[in-house]
Amino acid sequence: MSTSNSQLVAKLIQNTIRDEVQALSAYHVPDASGYLKLDAMENPYRLPPELQQSLAQRLTQIDLNRYPVPSYSALKAALSHHYGVPQGYPLVLGNGSDELITLLSVACAKPGAKVLAPVPSFVMYAMSAKLAGLDFVGVPLNTDLSLDTPAMLDAIAAHQPAITYLAYPNNPTGTKFSEDEMETIIRAVGETGIVVVDEAYQPFAQSSFMPRLAEFPNMVVMRTVSKLGLAGVRLGYMAAAPALLEQFEKVRPPYNINVLTEAAVLCVLEHAEVFEQQAADLRGQREHLSSQLAALPGVSVFPSAANFVLTKFENPEGNCGSEQSFADQVFTKLAARKILVKNVGKMHALLKDCLRITVSTAEENAILLNALKEILRGS
Ligand SMILES: *Cc1c(COP(=O)(O)O)cnc(C)c1O
Repeated sequence: MSTSNSQLVAKLIQNTIRDEVQALSAYHVPDASGYLKLDAMENPYRLPPELQQSLAQRLTQIDLNRYPVPSYSALKAALSHHYGVPQGYPLVLGNGSDELITLLSVACAKPGAKVLAPVPSFVMYAMSAKLAGLDFVGVPLNTDLSLDTPAMLDAIAAHQPAITYLAYPNNPTGTKFSEDEMETIIRAVGETGIVVVDEAYQPFAQSSFMPRLAEFPNMVVMRTVSKLGLAGVRLGYMAAAPALLEQFEKVRPPYNINVLTEAAVLCVLEHAEVFEQQAADLRGQREHLSSQLAALPGVSVFPSAANFVLTKFENPEGNCGSEQSFADQVFTKLAARKILVKNVGKMHALLKDCLRITVSTAEENAILLNALKEILRGS
């Protein structure tokens, strides 16, 4: 581009793009080709061959020339049936739960409205709030990564948040907050705001607020099929009292779920037991991996109810003269061995020296553990 055109574009951006947007940096996803991918909480298993075959069959039948039917009633019925949505509670579907978070922000973006969540938690809560022009209030967790309930209650009283997010279990910590404390917070918010219980990791947590929708009229329960083993299809859903949910349905782009996603999820849900078995296997692997990691020198593991483990790396002998923290060194050495985990050490003070590691198959977990043993031995 010519210099004068570049200058024009720079001015154009100054004139048109909101300051909040200009200040953001785009969500960065590292190129992971050739890596053992333990950074993004993906399910390591693919579909069994018979299911791949029936899916391929099913996809050939689709009318790609037609728009989706925006009620998505068959898909909603299947999700409700398989995932325990109580009778009388409708769903809103999103292109991943990321889109649902955006819909919630947009619907609640009254001037001065606030979004509240414990921190560290899922980064999209704050990001989406800022993009919709809402203020974000983060309330630090306790050092053991449990909820600081008195601080949450003070912040709720002070800020009257329109939306409060509780990820259950929490990402990036893996913590399953106490059910009693969650209940206290949902009741304290009461009619002044919505409380979103984000159950992205429900298959690994085995407890849920979904059956309790009738008890909490201000609660929205949000789920996704991503962590279950379908991250690529992009489908999230949320349930709440019908009148409340209808408001969010108005904000949803009418054709946000494409016909391929719709057909694929309908097809694989006929074999939902496949995902249940995979989740059960990963829960077992999580316990094994956690105890093996915790047995390594300088390594501590936070209890997890999700399909990842937050792991702290501290060298008893310090940083060995390096500029990098010990956890950063471990991250770099894993990457050199083509193993990708998530370095969350700079996300929040409570996560200092922590790496977040996705639980995978027995084989892949063993590769990680062997690499860590070698790295920690200093070879
Ligand atoms: C991964 C994750 C999501 C995002 O799910 P998608 O449906 O893939 O957009 C939402 N909430 C939490 C807490 C997550 O960890």
